[in-house]
Amino acid sequence: MIQLKTKYDCCGCEACIQTCPAKCISFSEDAEGFGYPVVNEQACVGCGLCDTVCPVLNALEPAAPMSVLAARNKSEEDLLNSSSGGIFVALARKVLQDNGVVYGAAFSPDFQTVNHKGIEKYEDLPALMGSKYLQSRIGNCFSDIKACLDGKRKVLFCGTGCQVKALKLFLKKEYANLVAVDFICHGVPSPAVWRSYLKQSIQDKSIKSISFRDKRSGWIYYSFTLKTAGPSGNTVQEISQPYTRNPYLWLFMNDYSLRPSCFHCPAKNGGSHSDITIGDYWGIEDSHPSFFDEKGVGLLMVNTTKGQEIISDLDLDMLATSLEEAVLENPTYLYSRKEPAKRADFFRKFSAGTPVNSLYGIYKRKKSISQIPVFFKKKINAIKKRLP
Ligand SMILES: Cc1cc2nc3c(=O)[nH]c(=O)nc-3n(C[C@H](O)[C@H](O)[C@H](O)COP(=O)(O)OP(=O)(O)OC[C@H]3O[C@@H](n4cnc5c(N)ncnc54)[C@H](O)[C@@H]3O)c2cc1C
Ligand code: SF4
Ligand code: SF4
Ligand code: SF4
Repeated sequence: MIQLKTKYDCCGCEACIQTCPAKCISFSEDAEGFGYPVVNEQACVGCGLCDTVCPVLNALEPAAPMSVLAARNKSEEDLLNSSSGGIFVALARKVLQDNGVVYGAAFSPDFQTVNHKGIEKYEDLPALMGSKYLQSRIGNCFSDIKACLDGKRKVLFCGTGCQVKALKLFLKKEYANLVAVDFICHGVPSPAVWRSYLKQSIQDKSIKSISFRDKRSGWIYYSFTLKTAGPSGNTVQEISQPYTRNPYLWLFMNDYSLRPSCFHCPAKNGGSHSDITIGDYWGIEDSHPSFFDEKGVGLLMVNTTKGQEIISDLDLDMLATSLEEAVLENPTYLYSRKEPAKRADFFRKFSAGTPVNSLYGIYKRKKSISQIPVFFKKKINAIKKRLP
């Protein structure tokens, strides 16, 4: 039976809940806003199935990619509407064309939560496109995917490495008709921090759209953009901030709002057993300037022959590179983020009601002050280098 000793021991994949024959596991949000399983011990029949599907309890042998590429969708529209190189949408179109089902993360209609869901029509694809930087709920998706696979439907699942690993453990066997895709993962921020930030940002307005990766300011210097409408619905207002100056994104990038399990990720370095891993090809402007595109360049790791087959049939421009080069500017493929010393302090203040914008002010200032000695050391070194 699942027994969590610490908050680091659960990535919130919900596989245990879906596998439990006694239906005695529920999911409950803690004060930080992350969901954890809670077992009703009176109803538990002691079968141990929950332990066998848990991605934290079960290690999968790390698998090195067969090939590593830089990739870019040939459709300008798809590229601009995707976070990175538009690889996901190319894969999804292929699977829909083959009468398959595509599973990915979508906002709820009120933008308060992100949930995984399956779609079967092209017109539903935009809802799954683009990164949503908060933890997505899996719900019953793994059970639904198993039913599709057993019914011989082709399925594409895209999610975090731990979600892919959990799906593989849940299914217990390899399916030729499943394409499992994960992305290089920095970690997932707290849904409660997101809801609080949203409340503070929109007040009584209704949300029209949200983009965490608005490429109007470029792929590298992307912005967070939130469009709202007033009570009459006709006046659209826009908040758009570079990612470095958006409070919510700053706290995510600087690891304060991440889930505890993300500091000891169970799916790094090929540990998810996905067929394909996607990400941003950061640094391409220096390593392969002729392939750089300010609308975005994706990183594509092909991990299995199944992955190899599907990508050979996609509408992508591709350039073969190497793992060493690709992870140079994207080390979260290999390593978990380091927990900030002040993370507990951050969540204490958050739980006590300190607004997200104020928390951003506090921790950004602290970080800037702590970096002053590093800044001066670098300056002194630069001056020393210039001295004869
Ligand atoms: C929380 C998070 C952290 C990330 N960290 C990194 C990183 O450190 N380095 C890096 O190179 N890339 C990272 N990515 C991946 C990156 O943002 C792009 O999603 C990826 O490069 C694919 O881009 P694309 O243009 O091919 O597809 P996109 O159209 O951007 O498709 C993204 C896919 O991710 C799924 N998705 C979106 N949000 C979530 C979510 N919250 N949970 C699960 N699945 C989701 C969508 O359903 C879709 O299938 C992260 C993504 C997320 C959601
Ligand atoms: S041991 Fe079996 S019955 Fe008990 S919680 Fe786990 S899956 Fe459910
Ligand atoms: S990681 Fe997933 S399977 Fe393991 S305890 Fe948490 S929710 Fe359950
Ligand atoms: S960093 Fe690891 S544990 Fe955290 S969401 Fe990503 S894959 Fe899961």
